[in-house]
Amino acid sequence: MSDLDADLIIIGAGPAGLTAAQYGARANLKVLVIEQLAAGGQALNIDVLENYPGNAGQFDVSGNMICGPKTGYEFAADLHRQAETFGASFLYESVSCIKKEDDIFLTELSDGVIKKAAAVIIATGSRPRLLNIPGEKEFTGKGVSYCATCDGNFFKGKKIFVAGGGDAACDEARYLSHLSNHNSCSQAGYFTRAKSPCRKNIEQS
Ligand SMILES: Cc1cc2nc3c(=O)[nH]c(=O)nc-3n(C[C@H](O)[C@H](O)[C@H](O)COP(=O)(O)OP(=O)(O)OC[C@H]3O[C@@H](n4cnc5c(N)ncnc54)[C@H](O)[C@@H]3O)c2cc1C
Repeated sequence: MSDLDADLIIIGAGPAGLTAAQYGARANLKVLVIEQLAAGGQALNIDVLENYPGNAGQFDVSGNMICGPKTGYEFAADLHRQAETFGASFLYESVSCIKKEDDIFLTELSDGVIKKAAAVIIATGSRPRLLNIPGEKEFTGKGVSYCATCDGNFFKGKKIFVAGGGDAACDEARYLSHLSNHNSCSQAGYFTRAKSPCRKNIEQS
């Protein structure tokens, strides 16, 4: 075990990977986080983040806000700093393959280097399926969103259009219906691909 690069390798430095990193490092494990882009993941795209745990809008004695909405960049920087403070190390490279030999995980990077660890956490996140329509890219974070619970609050009372006809779209539309009466859907017959009870509820409402 002495030739290990880390006790724990974490692939991906989004909020999940960074949280795992601070827990692991705080438990005295030698933690190596491998990230292909930048620490923060999708959180770096968030314009204003309100719903992180602990955000209760606290003020100091002079009335300055010490805890409140943050940009995604600030949130990511805080998580990154916290993980590093507890002792996690970071390596910026893409992981192309994981193998297991005996009890050791071999994590291969895109440059061919192999990093060895006793355990690996894959925290590589997910990516929304894009519509690839004009305006989508330019307005992402400025009216085009991929998460109703994250961003719906910014569009309270406004006209909101939900694209999609499956369970996820149905759930998002139901959530948004509490924020706006002008919530329309892209498909005739609405959620034709939705299987959850949500479809019945929303079509009746
Ligand atoms: C525009 C926008 C606004 C949002 N607003 C909010 C909000 O207000 N509130 C909220 O709670 N959530 C919000 N979200 C959702 C939130 O950002 C995600 O739920 C969260 O980032 C998921 O964290 P994660 O760590 O699981 O994955 P990710 O953030 O996707 O991180 C995964 C990381 O893994 C890395 N990675 C992937 N493959 C490899 C590989 N092979 N090798 C090395 N690294 C790899 C990626 O580069 C990435 O950095 C928003 C998302 C977007 C896009």
